[in-house]
Amino acid sequence: MSDLTRQSAATLASAIARREVSSEEVTRAHFDRIAQVDERVHAFLHVDPESSIARAREVDQQLAKGELLSPLAGVPIAFKDLLATKGVPTTCGSRILEGWRPPYNATIVDKLNAAGVVSLGKTNMDEFAMGSSTEHSGYGPTHNPWDLERIPGGSGGGSAAAVASFESPMAIGTDTGGSIRQPAALTGTVGVKPTYGGVSRYGIVALASSLDQAGPCARDVMDTALLHAVIGGHDPRDSTSINEPVPDVVAAALKADVRGMKIGVIKELKGEGFQAGVLERFNQSIEILTDLGAEVIEVSCPHFEYALGAYYLILPSEASSNLARFDGMRFGIREDDGKDRSVEEVMSATREKGFGAEVKRRIMLGTYALSSGYYDAYYGQAQRIRTLITRDFAYAFSRVDVLVSPTAPTTAFKIGEKLDNPLAMYLNDIATIPVNLAGNCAMSLPIGRAPEDGLPVGLQIIAPPMADHLLYQVGSALESALADRWGGLLISEAPTL
Ligand code: GLN
Repeated sequence: MSDLTRQSAATLASAIARREVSSEEVTRAHFDRIAQVDERVHAFLHVDPESSIARAREVDQQLAKGELLSPLAGVPIAFKDLLATKGVPTTCGSRILEGWRPPYNATIVDKLNAAGVVSLGKTNMDEFAMGSSTEHSGYGPTHNPWDLERIPGGSGGGSAAAVASFESPMAIGTDTGGSIRQPAALTGTVGVKPTYGGVSRYGIVALASSLDQAGPCARDVMDTALLHAVIGGHDPRDSTSINEPVPDVVAAALKADVRGMKIGVIKELKGEGFQAGVLERFNQSIEILTDLGAEVIEVSCPHFEYALGAYYLILPSEASSNLARFDGMRFGIREDDGKDRSVEEVMSATREKGFGAEVKRRIMLGTYALSSGYYDAYYGQAQRIRTLITRDFAYAFSRVDVLVSPTAPTTAFKIGEKLDNPLAMYLNDIATIPVNLAGNCAMSLPIGRAPEDGLPVGLQIIAPPMADHLLYQVGSALESALADRWGGLLISEAPTL
């Protein structure tokens, strides 16, 4: 096989299964690529090539004995650094967790291990997944492989950049307000936020528990589906996990057909604040979907304009509570100068030193919103808006099968451009946040490059709860129509680093 790092996960898996190439060779090829480009991209926070290669050899032996039956056996993967990985550093992009090695694995890490998937390492992210650019990482930003002076999106910019720069064929991200989909849009890759409860959250460090969901990232729809199928499903260790079979996302990706489907364009997510080239590509995709036999209509979701405001009360409230555990006593660093300090002094010094500015900002916002006398006015009101947004979706889905919008209002911006303006940063997630608030599922699919800057644009497909298969059915139909025009996936146009 020619360059192993250019192949899809599905292609690699079948070549490994036929023993044309070993998992060890595939894993080594990806570490060579990481050695070649990651100094510039900075997608990874932690790699341990020796143990990954040893693991790949084990998988090769299991395959030789016919012991492993899995559609992704032997294929490498990268994990966002807020998934607990037993004995392997897990920082959540924060200095406060420097040196912490979890004593257990997240359920999805265990599932992927059992499927013979080989971990390459842990990827960079905004600290505790708060951000849209990966610039809030305590370990320096990740760079967009399409243009190293630009951000790759966030918070899962490391996972998206690893996939886009061919350092890993696939990755796991988490999405609380858009952190899988927005980086996918900005790097020309595919990312899915599954239905809330569709993928276990056990062992995923919590940001906002009622919004968080882990999901797959890859370079094409089929690889994303294969990964989704492995990680999805009920987990008794996650009390919000849905006890129903995972929709057949792989069959839906194979079906790739939108004939007779009704697709709704969200009126509120295609106007002011959206870059002209993003809208141009979006409108072109709508025409293609119509040509493919879908009926496209416009639908209104009138309460979406309040989504960002509600999210920035609910998320900080939940985060301020979840992050209380990082106190210098149980995990990570402890700031203690040995001068007979009280517990409060040590906790406060540890949190002062260990947390970055964005995390502190949100802890303060959340603590304020939950404080007595304000709770109902802020948190309570935000929860009511959440209900209205869920109803907007329910009404829309009574008329259409799926909804579409641009994933992000603009293409990738320059490193530093929005760092001093939190509101400008927050506005990146205007189209993705409503989905987390309602708990349904969505995909970001690459649909071309914006004419004005040549950077990737993503289209968001949204489906009702537990109808994740529809994302893949529509996504793969549009993907193949677009690939016919481009002569391959968008990512094949990415500049070689
Ligand atoms: N960018 C959003 C935020 O800063 C989303 C984060 C996420 O999905 N983890 O909260």
